[in-house]
Amino acid sequence: MSRFIDRVVLHVRAGKGGHGCASVHREKFKPLGGPDGGNGGNGGDVILEVDPNVHTLLDFHFHPHARAGNGKPGEGGNRDGKQGGELLLRVPDGTVVVGANGRLLADLVGAGTRFVAARGGRGGLGNAALVSRARKAPGFALLGEDGEEHDLTLELKSVADIGLVGYPSAGKSSLVSVLSAAKPKIADYPFTTLVPNLGVVSSGDTSFTVADVPGLIPGASEGRGLGLDFLRHLERCAVLAHVVDCATLESGRDPVSDVDALEAELAAYQPELQADSGLGDLAERPRVVILNKTDVPDADELAEMVTPDFEARGWPVFKISAVSREGLRPLTFALATLVREYREAHPKAPPRRPVIRPVVRGESGFSVEADPEVPGGFIVRGERPERWVHQTQFDNDEAVGYLADRLARLGVEEELARLGAEPGAPVTIGDISFDWEPQVSAGVDVVMSGRGTDPRLDQSDRVSAAERKHASRVRRGLVSEDEDQR
Ligand code: GDP
Ligand code: MG
Repeated sequence: MSRFIDRVVLHVRAGKGGHGCASVHREKFKPLGGPDGGNGGNGGDVILEVDPNVHTLLDFHFHPHARAGNGKPGEGGNRDGKQGGELLLRVPDGTVVVGANGRLLADLVGAGTRFVAARGGRGGLGNAALVSRARKAPGFALLGEDGEEHDLTLELKSVADIGLVGYPSAGKSSLVSVLSAAKPKIADYPFTTLVPNLGVVSSGDTSFTVADVPGLIPGASEGRGLGLDFLRHLERCAVLAHVVDCATLESGRDPVSDVDALEAELAAYQPELQADSGLGDLAERPRVVILNKTDVPDADELAEMVTPDFEARGWPVFKISAVSREGLRPLTFALATLVREYREAHPKAPPRRPVIRPVVRGESGFSVEADPEVPGGFIVRGERPERWVHQTQFDNDEAVGYLADRLARLGVEEELARLGAEPGAPVTIGDISFDWEPQVSAGVDVVMSGRGTDPRLDQSDRVSAAERKHASRVRRGLVSEDEDQR
């Protein structure tokens, strides 16, 4: 037996951002050209998009890892790196995306509806883009960020007006096939229907969809059989139709107890979409009872006998035979009427606008707390400080100085000081720990050493060495301050 694939765990990984480039413009007779390192390209996103031609999540079962392209690094001559290619994954209508923590992230309904499942990392800025008044020739660039990575659960919930509920082999698939143009697989075998079949039915000027929801069995709401997988499909249906086998010879089964057993499962099921769907509990969904197989001797009589019982519950009852096609016209007409009534009462009901909650990228603030594991140490948390740490090339002092400036500007320095951090205190941001060296004031005291390898940068180092020498001579009174230093 093949597996019922309407729930898959998909691992998505967006592309990394390309690193920024540190380079200085080189041109004959113009030795001091400006910095011209380009930016890294952004990593590609992983995107889910509803495609009405896709009907199952089967592909993801065989390919559970999805990865978008990485951004290319920037280059000298102000050339920005290429963006990483996005990865577009086509999913069936009615796909629900659940995050690792069980949170509903998106409910994808309607052709073309999109959800960014993993955002690509931003490319790092090149040194040309990092020029500021404080840093006229930055000897560093920012690193590209990693792309987001998530484990997502995709679930398929059918988008249908009528959900056919019934024991295996009650005749649900047969009924969809005779009511509509859809041709589901039919066999005298439980769990024949591995994927819900959708059929489009027309009656007068009303057309509606019927979903053959695979066999429910007692215990389904506790996950017995493939029960929860099936129940999930009913959540979007406006009307639930019991399809009852009036010809079954199984002991202990009869139309009333069959319906009662499935009603108990419906009542026990906790819908996942309830809050967002506006459809209310499954219990409140209108019901009809379809007594099937009345072509079989004795079945018709049994159907006749149990009809008053269902009618007493206020449920319309239809006696049909999916095989001889008896009783189909009044059934189709009644279903169309129910769907029309439902649509009038719920003008915004299915198809509805998708609920999309983008993956939260974190707030822009930050927090500083004492590190419970390191005496005298602190932990800085926050989306921006953590991102900045990832962008920093830690073997480049100038890049580290730039990070320190950014942190100071955000107020991290001040907060550390306020909490009593001593100079040299171990501070952790993200997965990096370093000793805190308070700066005199933000953006001033940057140590210039360990610069990039560009020869032009070496030359500018030499210039600053000359400047330093001049400054010390001024201090010692050997030359006046405005005297030409060269
Ligand atoms: P499902 O499991 O509810 O989808 O049931 P199927 O539609 O696959 O039907 C199960 C079996 O019942 C098949 O062998 C069908 O041919 C048979 N069947 C369905 N409807 C009728 C009917 O009205 N009369 C008779 N005699 N057999 C039927
Ligand atoms: Mg079936």
